[in-house]
Amino acid sequence: MRIAIYPGSFDPLTNGHLDVVQRAAKLFDRVVVAVAKNEGKHPLFTAAERMRMVTEAVAGLPNVEADAFDGLLVEYVAAKKARAVVRGLRAVSDFEFEFQLALMNRKLDENIETIFMMPKDTYTFLSSRIVKEIARLGGDVSQFVPPNVQRALKKKLKV
Ligand code: ADP
Repeated sequence: MRIAIYPGSFDPLTNGHLDVVQRAAKLFDRVVVAVAKNEGKHPLFTAAERMRMVTEAVAGLPNVEADAFDGLLVEYVAAKKARAVVRGLRAVSDFEFEFQLALMNRKLDENIETIFMMPKDTYTFLSSRIVKEIARLGGDVSQFVPPNVQRALKKKLKV
């Protein structure tokens, strides 16, 4: 059984994240979208809310599930009996941080490989941060996030 963990803040999940999930689901027997409870990042949505949004959005993908974690990623990956971590790469700007993270995780546990996936080109400009900014200003985010996330943004931001 090939299991991959796709970790992130998912604050909130976007169509770019979903694109990566769908690609990973074709390569692995099981994909766990792992919501980082997170820390100092001051997320807009609570971990429970982020987790619910992911669960709803991946409901149609039989080999994908949502989970939440905190603490060291490599320990979570090992506990899940997974060998691969999936991360998305949008542009060169993502590379440096992702490279550092992947090599650090390898130092911590050399059995774990990080797999990078590029989203569909139309999603390369998309980030949770920009989606929140547009939504906060009352802009239409329907092209960028699944319908359940759009509803959650409206409710949270009262727009
Ligand atoms: P983190 O806080 O860990 O960066 P994010 O939820 O922002 O969590 O992102 C999780 C992963 O998804 C990261 O590898 C990030 O590069 C990737 N990602 C974010 N947005 C996109 C997108 N539009 N297309 C592809 N990958 C993305």
